[in-house]
Amino acid sequence: MPTRNVIIGGGPAGMYAIEEIRRADPAAQITLVSDEPAYARMALPYYLAGEVPEEQVFTGGPDFYQRLGVDARLGRQARQLDTAARTVALDDGATLPYDNLLLATGSRAQRLPVPGADLPGVITLWALADARQAIQALPPGAEVCLIGAGFIGFIVLNAIYKRGNRQRVVEIEDQILPRMLDRESAQMVQQWLAGKGIEVRTGEGVTAIEARDGRKAIRFASGGQVLADLVILATGVQPNIDLAREAGIECQQGILVDNHCRTSAPGVYAAGDCAQGPELITGRREVHAIQPTAVDHGRVAGANMGGQDVAYVGSLAMNILDVCGLHCVSYGQWASDGREEQRIVNATLPNTRKIVWDGTRIVGAIVVAPPDDSTMLNDVGMLKGFIQSQAELGAWKRYIEENPADLRRAYIGAGIPARLIPYRTTGSPSASRSFRYQNAEPVTQRTEWHRLLIESRPEMPEGPPPAAAG
Ligand SMILES: Cc1cc2nc3c(=O)[nH]c(=O)nc-3n(C[C@H](O)[C@H](O)[C@H](O)COP(=O)(O)OP(=O)(O)OC[C@H]3O[C@@H](n4cnc5c(N)ncnc54)[C@H](O)[C@@H]3O)c2cc1C
Repeated sequence: MPTRNVIIGGGPAGMYAIEEIRRADPAAQITLVSDEPAYARMALPYYLAGEVPEEQVFTGGPDFYQRLGVDARLGRQARQLDTAARTVALDDGATLPYDNLLLATGSRAQRLPVPGADLPGVITLWALADARQAIQALPPGAEVCLIGAGFIGFIVLNAIYKRGNRQRVVEIEDQILPRMLDRESAQMVQQWLAGKGIEVRTGEGVTAIEARDGRKAIRFASGGQVLADLVILATGVQPNIDLAREAGIECQQGILVDNHCRTSAPGVYAAGDCAQGPELITGRREVHAIQPTAVDHGRVAGANMGGQDVAYVGSLAMNILDVCGLHCVSYGQWASDGREEQRIVNATLPNTRKIVWDGTRIVGAIVVAPPDDSTMLNDVGMLKGFIQSQAELGAWKRYIEENPADLRRAYIGAGIPARLIPYRTTGSPSASRSFRYQNAEPVTQRTEWHRLLIESRPEMPEGPPPAAAG
């Protein structure tokens, strides 16, 4: 009898899991239950900015479900889970039996606990419906007050900047991006925003939001107030763990999973924003509510549900933002927490770079620079490689200390590319994505340079990666 797999949630974690189950087990039964259509939340800012049409945010459709043999129950909600009987009850009265169940229920935006936070014209920007509402509410000339200067808030800020609407930002903590940048880097970004005419108020609490003459008045703890046409709340997210908790599955901040994305209940897996799984560097279980973790978790859970035995190396905290033309990146243990750190600052560009060391391993980094800075794009990729490989850099550490803007030599010298080649999420090579917008195929410009690059590719060494230079 085919294995019965039920997936709850059609976000990236659920969708990647479906692809992986089908790859591993062609005979498996797959049922998807999701209260929304399948789409990528991270595409919403591009839709809001007017850069892509709404259709491009979707990550699945009837063809996709048919091709992968998925029984898609969209617009349906999973209400109750019985881990002893191995069944899920839906809001339409259906009961689905399962052998394997994936909880990929994501997270939700928190509402601000102040009077007026539920008025019309006060929204979170979390779901497709919110993005539609924001587009309606933002004709040219309309003004936004963005409450919350975290990662999601700043993604929204950049989309509104691209739309051309005026905005101001209010943050209760005394710096912007408090869970992504240290104080020095955050100050650089705040100055950049001031240069773009965007007012940022830090250390400012909002006490109430009131309707006034078709606009909103936002009142502050310090006594002042400002007016806006639309208020966007970006004041934190909360993992959707109720279903798991009520079923007696072990949860802390998220649903606890091991390195196979298994929960404490037999046959039940969790993935993505709702899951609290091992982190790459410390091995501690953390919630990383970001797309790369959702994709990795989904693939690992899916491979295991399909009968493979795949252990996950752990997720890396990574945040990458375009703040009105200034790019900000942070990885891993960027906050140092007493570890040795190295920093270079060029305040006039502006450009700053911080590398956090644990012995001769790089365990965290921050980069803030304009994208056309010649070292920016390459170095951001290489820093991620150093951290993901967890290579002991030996003598190359001193080289980086003396030449912090020349990571390339150390990257090659310490053999990082060869160390990353065996780095695979599921043990199988990555394959072409199953869903493509309008079935479009990727286009490769096969120019003379493409031929030269392919023909001059070096032979890859066989066997284990070489030891780092000592
Ligand atoms: C505006 C915005 C921009 C973002 N940009 C970035 C970015 O640039 N980079 C990045 O790394 N991350 C970004 N993120 C975060 C990223 O989108 C999330 O980490 C990712 O969507 C998590 O995927 P998921 O599959 O775990 O959950 P989700 O995408 O939240 O999907 C879960 C789905 O399950 C459904 N569901 C929940 N409970 C039930 C139930 N009981 N029954 C049925 N269905 C249920 C939900 O409605 C939802 O459709 C952004 C998020 C937002 C909101």
